[in-house]
Amino acid sequence: MNFVKVLIAVGAYSEAVSNSRPFYMRETRDENNRVLYAIGEESSESVKSFSLTRSDLLQALCNAARSHGVEITTSSKAVAADPAGFLILEDGTRRRADLVVAADGVNSAIRDDLGLLRSRRQLREGSIRLLIPRTAQERVSEDGRKGIEYWSGKRRIYYTANNPNDVYLAFMLAHDDVAGRALPIKQDVWSRSFPHLSDLIARVGDRGRWDRFEQIALHRWSRGRVCVVGDAASAMTPNIGQGGGFAAMNALSLAVYVSQARTVEEGLDQWERSERPLTEYTQRVSYWYGEMNRLPSKLRAGFMRLCQQSPRLMGLRQRPARHAPVGYSEPRG
Ligand SMILES: Cc1cc2nc3c(=O)[nH]c(=O)nc-3n(C[C@H](O)[C@H](O)[C@H](O)COP(=O)(O)OP(=O)(O)OC[C@H]3O[C@@H](n4cnc5c(N)ncnc54)[C@H](O)[C@@H]3O)c2cc1C
Repeated sequence: MNFVKVLIAVGAYSEAVSNSRPFYMRETRDENNRVLYAIGEESSESVKSFSLTRSDLLQALCNAARSHGVEITTSSKAVAADPAGFLILEDGTRRRADLVVAADGVNSAIRDDLGLLRSRRQLREGSIRLLIPRTAQERVSEDGRKGIEYWSGKRRIYYTANNPNDVYLAFMLAHDDVAGRALPIKQDVWSRSFPHLSDLIARVGDRGRWDRFEQIALHRWSRGRVCVVGDAASAMTPNIGQGGGFAAMNALSLAVYVSQARTVEEGLDQWERSERPLTEYTQRVSYWYGEMNRLPSKLRAGFMRLCQQSPRLMGLRQRPARHAPVGYSEPRG
């Protein structure tokens, strides 16, 4: 929901979600397909959650940016930045800027060039991600409209429809589970863990890419007139679906703090002081959620049921998603 609020604030919301329908239920299920806990969309909530494809999201953001006068240049690889306010491109061009924003992902060249990286942790788990065509049956069925995370042993499958035509699947597992992360996916291996999903698994074919999860922490989020945002600064496991949410929230608040401060450097200091604590809290919650994979299934199921009954525990998990980004105002009435 936090990302949706950012889309509203920058004028990209209507286009981004035009192809999708709001989530109405997010469930976690055990190896017998029993629901362990569910997060429903409250009808009173003015902002709904969506599951979008990257292309729908990027197209809407590009169009919103252009409508504000932004010029977008593709195929221009950045290799470094000068804290005095220059972006240095691969062909040697130096571009002057009041503020250079490095949002170049987990392998950020600019972050590394500035020596801002404090730690880069390769985590035990990773995932195989892909899109498959959505069937006519999935468009009308109860489960076909939900976001469902299935757990079995140390493996998980996340299922969600993005739009009328695409279903997104993430197969999450430990890096040392060699049979599980083989590509193309071994249908027999995954169907043994999830027999009730064998028809779904058979639809995957040779689709999918494997990525290992990483967690990033920086000494500082900026140096001089250069700052780092998104996965480049704060990559986290996708366990609670917040990496993109925090990339977006921190980018929006960056604009607010720097626009309102007397100097760019002062704005960057205020921005980091304001946003870093919740970002790091979210990295921790997301990390520990993944660590539940180490628990025996019965213990994990018991803990999840307990979470469902405890508004306090659910609140800890939901706090990042419910956060109102700096730069977003609640609609009146
Ligand atoms: C399995 C999985 C599931 C996830 N699910 C969710 C979810 O449900 N919700 C959520 O909010 N987040 C989720 N995330 C996290 C989310 O995808 C990331 O946090 C988000 O994409 C980070 O955005 P970013 O713009 O910082 O980096 P990226 O999306 O990595 O974008 C970086 C961009 O910079 C470009 N680039 C890189 N290097 C250079 C260079 N040198 N010069 C110029 N350009 C460059 C790249 O081409 C790319 O376009 C998930 C991640 C994974 C792995």
